[in-house]
Amino acid sequence: MAVSMSNSNLRPETIAAHSLKAIDETTGSVAPPLYTASTYARDETYTPKLKENYIRGGNPTLWHAEEAVAALEQGVEALLFASGMAAITTLLETVPQGAHVAAPDVMYYGTRDWLKRLEAKGRISLTLFDAANPAALAKALRKGETDLVWIETPLNPTWDVIDIAEAAKAAHQAGAILAVDATASAAVTTQPLTLGADIVFHSATKYLNGHSDVLAGVLVTREANARWKEIASLRTRIGSPLAPFEAWLLIRGLRTLYVRYRQASANAMAIARHFEKHPKIERVLYPGLASHRGHTIAKKQMTDGFGGMLSLLITGDAAEAVKVCTRLKVIVPATSLGGVESLAEHRKTVEGPESPVPDNLIRLSIGIEHADDLIADLEQALG
Ligand SMILES: *Cc1c(COP(=O)(O)O)cnc(C)c1O
Repeated sequence: MAVSMSNSNLRPETIAAHSLKAIDETTGSVAPPLYTASTYARDETYTPKLKENYIRGGNPTLWHAEEAVAALEQGVEALLFASGMAAITTLLETVPQGAHVAAPDVMYYGTRDWLKRLEAKGRISLTLFDAANPAALAKALRKGETDLVWIETPLNPTWDVIDIAEAAKAAHQAGAILAVDATASAAVTTQPLTLGADIVFHSATKYLNGHSDVLAGVLVTREANARWKEIASLRTRIGSPLAPFEAWLLIRGLRTLYVRYRQASANAMAIARHFEKHPKIERVLYPGLASHRGHTIAKKQMTDGFGGMLSLLITGDAAEAVKVCTRLKVIVPATSLGGVESLAEHRKTVEGPESPVPDNLIRLSIGIEHADDLIADLEQALG
């Protein structure tokens, strides 16, 4: 009765819909079981039944979710963490003392903030390269010194696109590994591991769960090598695995990942096209538009839509951009992204005055509503 979809020829839509193996072997339950136990009994010979018998090391519900994400990313193993930041900081903990890390100058601000903190403490040396210049990444690397190249694509909140295959080549030539924050492409439209990346990261809080009700992070690896084993062991020692109920909710969210992502992509494209030549809009940043500087790479690398994330640069200042957010009636003025409901956010307010994000930028996370309702809402909010 068990449906195992790993190592099969099934397409990712099918794997996601069954969340790898929807039917429970022992009961036939079509929804997967939720194992909440913090500890598991040993058998009559005092042998543990599972590979981990205490919750901090893992549990069956967590493993189910990990196997599903690993299959969708075409990796060999996945590790789920209590948050995206817990996954990122655990990976960064494996960088040797004093080693060099390269990352884009514009990216998710929590990651940038943590890298700067490690640099300020003398823990790493750091180069933030120009994300908009395709030649900048290779120039930032130091052969033999660079340990980790961290990229994000498409990048928050300009949605610039970094060529993963080129980044992998440059990283490997320098003797570094490439890790990709692929939160915005959600495993659906890009599979970084197949393009040469060593580790792919998702804030599973976003598209993978998709319902704005779970905090989770995941790393997926191309090879279960020594570094990967160190990350796995650190998760147990630090104590940051995802809790079972969150893993169970994530399995539920994954089952609709493809339909959600494709609807969000279609809606975002409609909105980008509608506002591209609008008098109240200075520029629309969306990798699906030919006018976006990352469009050529995006067309090559995003094979199933350009996602639900875009930014509007309004004609007006920071105060006007905030006002537009407050006038929205359907789109919710809230942070985060990748949920079924559309969200709008004035990023500068959230990131603070030090942030390189333009004052007039409104970030939109487009959901699965009717595109016409979203366009009408933005039209009335722009006034
Ligand atoms: C949200 C987010 C993170 C951090 O993940 P959390 O789950 O909030 O800890 C990292 N990268 C990107 C691109 C994100 O959107």
